[in-house]
Amino acid sequence: MGRKVGVIAVVLVALLGTLAIYLYNRITVLDHEAVTDSVSVIYGAGGNVAVLRTQRGAVVVDTMTFPLQGRRIRALAERLGGGPTQAVVNTHYHPDHTHGNSAWPAGTHIVATERTRAYLERFDSAFWEGRSAGSVPNDLFTDRHDLRIGDKTVRSLYLGRGHTGGDLVVLFVEDRVLHTGDLFFNRRYPNIDLEAGGSVQQWAETLERVLALDFDRVIPGHGPVTDRADLLEFQRFIAELAEYASKSAAAEMSLEETLAAADLEHDAGFEPMSIPFLFRFDRDFAIRRAWEEATGAVQPVDLATPELSGNL
Ligand SMILES: [Zn+2]
Repeated sequence: MGRKVGVIAVVLVALLGTLAIYLYNRITVLDHEAVTDSVSVIYGAGGNVAVLRTQRGAVVVDTMTFPLQGRRIRALAERLGGGPTQAVVNTHYHPDHTHGNSAWPAGTHIVATERTRAYLERFDSAFWEGRSAGSVPNDLFTDRHDLRIGDKTVRSLYLGRGHTGGDLVVLFVEDRVLHTGDLFFNRRYPNIDLEAGGSVQQWAETLERVLALDFDRVIPGHGPVTDRADLLEFQRFIAELAEYASKSAAAEMSLEETLAAADLEHDAGFEPMSIPFLFRFDRDFAIRRAWEEATGAVQPVDLATPELSGNL
């Protein structure tokens, strides 16, 4: 009996050890590739990170999911970016784009929209009130923000609602590279955060303004670096989704009927994104969120309500 328990314990420890090593690798492994001479992308467990090399050092867009990861991203970014970090930009408030921030010292210049900061306070205050309080975005804007570092221009723009109500896109002006944040999931089904102001109905128009910018290469929030063609295809899918949800709401179709009758075309080849037991972004998820918005079943939070803590 005692021997059996001992064997089970050894097997369990071995299994847990293997799981821990697997998770550690999943979290810390980073890949990177050059987009232009001055812009690189870092891929890993979380949103894509862009690094701009300037004469003075690195500009980093988004920081992935874990503080441990953030430290590795910072080291890699400062190698790719030619020196110490001059500024960080957060495209939106989601943890898989911001929680690495705490790897940068308090006082680092961190750009985001005012609404992103408000959503951080509203939806993720436990993280940002703790030891990460020093790396919350501290340079906030509403519509447009230009940073001039050495001979480079980093232009952050808020162009409308979509994935959340506060997403910015970053244009590396001289390199003609755009980081879209999660306004664009390349060949993947998107997350749609209606509670934080996301909107399927307005998303395609927002992408119209994105497509009007001067750029050649695109770093999406998730998925491989690409060009305008994939972004256009994603816009077509979002437009198709919005139109279908509007029709379904007008016809007073139930969610089940809406899911069953969906006949979408522009998501051919899209992959679902999921972490078991946590979330799954697939076709049904996208249709459900579009239906919830079109029928008014889900409303964005009112940021003006007093329950907003606002004491970061
Ligand atoms: Zn996101």
